[in-house]
Amino acid sequence: MTPSSALNRRSFLARGAAITAVPAVTALAGGAFAQPASADTLPDYAPIPASALGPALNPQGYYVGRVQKNLYWVTDGTYQAAFLTTRDGVVLFDAPPTIGRNLQRAINEVASSARVSNKVTHIVYSHHHADHVGASSLFGRNVVRVGHVETKRLLARGPDLGPAVPLPDVTFETRHTLRVGGERVELAWHGANHTPDNIFIHFPDHDTLMLVDILLPGWAPYDGFNVNEDVPGSITAADTANTYRWKHFIGGHMGRLGTRQDMAVYQRYVSDLIESIKQAVVAVDPTPFFAKYGNNSWAAVKTYQDAQTAYAAAPIIQKYTGVLAAVDVYTASTAFLLLESIRLDQGFGSQIHP
Ligand SMILES: [Zn+2]
Repeated sequence: MTPSSALNRRSFLARGAAITAVPAVTALAGGAFAQPASADTLPDYAPIPASALGPALNPQGYYVGRVQKNLYWVTDGTYQAAFLTTRDGVVLFDAPPTIGRNLQRAINEVASSARVSNKVTHIVYSHHHADHVGASSLFGRNVVRVGHVETKRLLARGPDLGPAVPLPDVTFETRHTLRVGGERVELAWHGANHTPDNIFIHFPDHDTLMLVDILLPGWAPYDGFNVNEDVPGSITAADTANTYRWKHFIGGHMGRLGTRQDMAVYQRYVSDLIESIKQAVVAVDPTPFFAKYGNNSWAAVKTYQDAQTAYAAAPIIQKYTGVLAAVDVYTASTAFLLLESIRLDQGFGSQIHP
């Protein structure tokens, strides 16, 4: 992490809590968690490569920078949003609650130096997840919110446990061209990926693609392959992203923008891991697990699959350490999701009883 964000320990801890969003009651569930954590006994991980980190945050805990021309991005080091200044006001793309009121501060900073309006008139939602749109209500009622029809449907179910997220006023099913103040943004839905409603936000006049929670530039995917709901759709989403014309990539996460090179490294990581999982399925012998646990099928399956994911993850962790940050943290959990998808979506290793 950057020195300035390290200084802001309180917001860093709040951010960590927001990302993992583990309810405090988890601690009560098992004896292993009953003892408070101690920094002395927590595991060590490989150092983060410098290439994973972005620009230093300001004392308020954010960084705002130009992507291209009048398109800007804001980060708190973990989450990202973007905004477009136009002659008729500002179009905001996502409103992560961890950035919160710093979104308007970042917009004010840019608008005053560019001498344009700082008034947010439109908010585009990438998808319905509260960690990306949970601060939308800060911008009041007189804002046009734009999102996929499924985003509206999913937001209408809740959230009941956090700040209300105003529903999109304008929805679309497959494509929508948003025109504001002489600017053009192309929104498209290409099928389910990270969530059923996650959209592609293309800025054809700014050489930029925003696609959230797929490629997190410089970093291994978050726990369990970014908790992607549709694994094959998420893998395809990266190929679809490559069919667009762009130079700058806004992934919704971590401290920097992405490049086409980042996308290539991410895709290689995923395909290497899938190949390694296929080898693990063949190489890890299930016999000892079933011999030990007898009729406790779940114990046998769990320990067998833990052995498969560990076998699959080991060479990938070795290959990508120093290339992608935190591969030693999350590759095994991503391997588990990919293993399940290979089995359940692709039918790998599936045999019909004779
Ligand atoms: Zn998400």
